[in-house]
Amino acid sequence: MSESASKSLTILGSTGSIGRNTLDVVRRNSHRFSVKAISANTSVDEVRSQIAEFHPETVVMTNSDAFTILQKEFGSLIRTGEDALNEICSREGIDIVVAAMVGSAGLRPTLEAIRAGKRVTIANKETLVVAGELMTALAKITGAEIIPIDSEHSAITQCLVGESRESVTRIILTASGGPFRTRSKDTFASITLSEALRHPNWIMGRKITIDSATLMNKGLEIIEARWLFDLPLEKIDVVIHPQSIIHSMVEFCDGSVKAQLGAPDMRLAIQYALGYPDRLPVAYETLDLLKNNRLDFEEPDLEKFLCLRLARNASELGGLYPAILNAANEIAVEAFLDESISFEEIPQIIQSAISHAEEDAARPLIVTPLDRINEDLERIFHADNRSREHARQFIAESIM
Ligand code: MG
Repeated sequence: MSESASKSLTILGSTGSIGRNTLDVVRRNSHRFSVKAISANTSVDEVRSQIAEFHPETVVMTNSDAFTILQKEFGSLIRTGEDALNEICSREGIDIVVAAMVGSAGLRPTLEAIRAGKRVTIANKETLVVAGELMTALAKITGAEIIPIDSEHSAITQCLVGESRESVTRIILTASGGPFRTRSKDTFASITLSEALRHPNWIMGRKITIDSATLMNKGLEIIEARWLFDLPLEKIDVVIHPQSIIHSMVEFCDGSVKAQLGAPDMRLAIQYALGYPDRLPVAYETLDLLKNNRLDFEEPDLEKFLCLRLARNASELGGLYPAILNAANEIAVEAFLDESISFEEIPQIIQSAISHAEEDAARPLIVTPLDRINEDLERIFHADNRSREHARQFIAESIM
């Protein structure tokens, strides 16, 4: 990326944790990047200050109350609705779409960006989980680049630079193990919300923090990696690495292993994705190896962290199973955040949704020809809705 060519960004989910960190990367690289459009849900005050600082041309508010409030102040700058969201992803002149919306709401706009051949830097893992097969196939046709922001996948991307895909024998995703790594399974029933929200190494949004506590986050990352790096499931391993210093590793056919290390700061991965393949000369916290002088590794406990096992199984089953898993997990995590279910019930709800899948759920997505992608999307959304319904039903019955 040359110094003179400033890139224009759309940020989906500008007020979330990734969105805010992306804006900080833009702030520190203001001659390289400019923000042309943002989307947010309800955070009116924060959007106001983002407008004042970054001067976007368009702001899409997905929540109608938030839209009404801001439209009174800013007029046509503020838009709402799915068409508006799709438009800021495919607009001419936009170079990079940062997909940082939470949950499967990010799917259609992200596909729109890929269809338009943009660089998509992707933090929304649910999108890749439910439709990674479609997204990567579509990107091959349109020339869109999908560059991960997730720290593990960013690490793997960095390890793969200059390497041929054939020489990769294994990728090793590292997991911190979350707050309950050393907690005995017998006490899982008494886990409280505030305990689950206390992640040892990373400061993140609430949904992903719970996913890290159940290790579903790592399970989703397995599915994500499968599509991003076009690898079979057998070549994707998970190792617990409590220090979170190594962000992930790649093993090659000669036995050599490359790892990417860094301080746990998501701005690093965001900046790398925006500047890829260049490294931009703006430094964040550097890694003090003498202070971080231990690297420990453990096998993940699949008896304790059932969500990790469920995710791997769903990936193996293929077809709509990752979407079913993801949807049930979203509902279960929401319910846990509302304190209407226990921590242990999260995998139970997901398991139940998976075992109630429709008969043809494992049928592969069609992917090509391109015009059939909408059929696949319909299938995905149908399975997603059904799984959510099932999960809600399960929760309602268990509360009664
Ligand atoms: Mg991650």
